[in-house]
Amino acid sequence: MSKKIFKTTWIVAILVFMVSLVVVLGISYNYFSNLQKKQLKNETELAAQGVGLSGREYFEGLNTEDYRITWIDAEGKVLYDNEADSEVMENHLEREEVKEALETGYGEAVRYSMTLADKQLYAAIRLSDGTILRLSIVQVTIWTLFLGFAQPIGIAVILAFVVAFVLASRLAEVIVKPINEIDPGEPEKYYGKENYKEVEPLLRHISAQQKQLRLDREKIEQTALIRQEFSANVSHELKTPLHAISGYAELLENGMVKDEDVKPFAGKIRAESLRITALVEDIIHLTKLDNADAQIRMEECDLFRIAENAVDSLENAADEMDVTIEISGTETPMKGVPQTLYSIVYNLCDNAIKYNHRGGKVSVTVAAVKNQNVLTVTDTGIGIPEESMERIFERFYRVDKSRSRAVGGTGLGLSIVKHAVMMHNGHIEVESTEGSGSKFTVIFPVL
Ligand code: ADP
Repeated sequence: MSKKIFKTTWIVAILVFMVSLVVVLGISYNYFSNLQKKQLKNETELAAQGVGLSGREYFEGLNTEDYRITWIDAEGKVLYDNEADSEVMENHLEREEVKEALETGYGEAVRYSMTLADKQLYAAIRLSDGTILRLSIVQVTIWTLFLGFAQPIGIAVILAFVVAFVLASRLAEVIVKPINEIDPGEPEKYYGKENYKEVEPLLRHISAQQKQLRLDREKIEQTALIRQEFSANVSHELKTPLHAISGYAELLENGMVKDEDVKPFAGKIRAESLRITALVEDIIHLTKLDNADAQIRMEECDLFRIAENAVDSLENAADEMDVTIEISGTETPMKGVPQTLYSIVYNLCDNAIKYNHRGGKVSVTVAAVKNQNVLTVTDTGIGIPEESMERIFERFYRVDKSRSRAVGGTGLGLSIVKHAVMMHNGHIEVESTEGSGSKFTVIFPVL
């Protein structure tokens, strides 16, 4: 960048200088031309006076190095010429300046020489006796003027090159130095500083991007940490039932189990296998939700019907626990992913049954209120202690691990619910009193 600024500045400076030089030369040329014309007129007037006073004698011994002087009579015959033989010269009556002088008393003309390299300037005056005195001089051409100034111009050009070179490199340095000194890690440091006024929008842009990058990095790190924790938890959760299964199998293998105990042992192995299956299913479900965020396809569905289906499929489980489950509400159309909405109702009702007392109750309501669709699942169960309320949605968090184990919990149900609710832009609230029951309220905005 520094090189480019230097090059551009240098070229611009030289160009400006060259253009100025041409303009100055043009003006000087014009000035000198006018001066020369004026001088020629003065000289002609002086000479005319001389000839008027002394006649032909005036020309004797006259030193006219640069001037050509011609004396012409009223008929155009050349009476005297200092450069040519007047006798053989043609009639001069048709010459422009002579004609004009005869008519008005004074005439001027400019004629180019054959080579066009120089111009001849003529001035003619009519004397009182009717004769014409003409003076002419070679006028400087712009080229002669230029050659005359060749040396100072040459020096000026060299000087201009050198000065422009030094200034351009200095300028490039002055412009680029503060930019090079910017610490891209802290662009805010330069806000409002004189040297950085012009680059401030760029600095702000860098700063905004850095903030975004920092946020993205934090998010990636956090996600990686959550994944790591999750994997560790999954391995741990799988290990427990697998150890139990292998323990029971080993006892059976070694014949250490009495015949009448074989059946209960097989039942225990089956229960542990079911736990593993449930866990794997929940993990798959959660992973699907994690990956689905980018490509969810919402469709028109009825939240009430979905809830009815979930309640129906849990009827047996409720019976087994001696819990009654009921649902109320009306058709509640909304945009969503039916399987995911189903898993929300299913998991909430499943918990309401699992963490209930014998003879307890679970009631589900679905309603459209204002611009929201609201699902509630209320139970008369064991309730959630105040200090656990915040944590129950964490993966693998359980209030009472052994109770959760006993009822076949995985610790993932509510994290699936939370994820699924968020996917529908909704939110979930919990109210609970330990010992007397809980109420989960899910609110979906109507888009
Ligand atoms: P789990 O598979 O253990 O049920 P969840 O994620 O569904 O896992 O729930 C987390 C914990 O929250 C449960 O272990 C339980 O302690 C508590 N919990 C969830 N729902 C209820 C409820 N309706 N009543 C009482 N406790 C509940």
